[in-house]
Amino acid sequence: MLVEGKVAVVTGGSRGIGRQIVETFLRHGAIVHYMSRNAGDSMEYFRTAVPEGDVTFHALDVADEGAVNAVFEQIMTARGRIDVLINNAGITRDGLMMRMSLEDWQAVLNINLTGAFLCSRAVARQMIKNRGGSIINITSVVGKIGNGGQANYASSKAGLIGLTKSMAREVGSRGVRVNAIAPGFIETEMTDTLNAQQRDALVSQIPMGRIGSAGEVASVCLFLASEMASYITGEIMTVGGGLAM
Ligand code: NDP
Repeated sequence: MLVEGKVAVVTGGSRGIGRQIVETFLRHGAIVHYMSRNAGDSMEYFRTAVPEGDVTFHALDVADEGAVNAVFEQIMTARGRIDVLINNAGITRDGLMMRMSLEDWQAVLNINLTGAFLCSRAVARQMIKNRGGSIINITSVVGKIGNGGQANYASSKAGLIGLTKSMAREVGSRGVRVNAIAPGFIETEMTDTLNAQQRDALVSQIPMGRIGSAGEVASVCLFLASEMASYITGEIMTVGGGLAM
């Protein structure tokens, strides 16, 4: 019960890594609000997986400033505070930079980077007032090392690293911690599109020789949100089996 009674908000919680984060936090006693554009089967999943869990879904596009402010206000009114924010929502629109449309560039930057900024701004003031809080941004190893065919995605993830460190400097003295997790290659719908050859090529670069699971990212998230990480801020923790060490 590492986050018992804490109010946690998880963006992109309906599937993949976000779903695992929501489930892990519920199992450790948090009150969880999560959002994505569509719930899919997620609410049924959480009710079955953690029947005693206190979990609420909000349909939200994190790139929509007005909607973000309204949903965070709603959560604040209902719960009185937000202790943990996990900016996990993300998309890819891959393509070679020379052929990339402005639309594909902006869509990825808007959701992956601007979305995290909007959600963080929506919680920062009350976290400072409460003199406590933990914000965790899900970036990627490609934000550190780049990736051919992912100029938009890698730029958004590199931007998240800058956002993490800048916010950590701004709010550290008020007891608010801001960190990021940089997953390597994790088995989710986002990575489902790779064929066997692409997978083998990727796995051959991972010192641990295997793909990671969403649970292995969620457990680091739990640690960073908990009091066990009370003196850690501005850090980028790579969860990649040695990839990009
Ligand atoms: P998935 O595609 O499986 O899930 C993405 C989640 O984000 C979904 O819940 C989706 O729901 C939500 N989402 C997407 N766009 C928006 C939006 N505009 N507003 C709100 N929610 C949105 O991805 P993963 O679980 O694989 O990835 C999660 C995070 O981890 C991402 O930030 C990704 O970049 C990062 N990551 C993943 C890696 C991997 O190997 N899988 C590696 C490194 C980083 P909906 O579409 O209904 O809105």
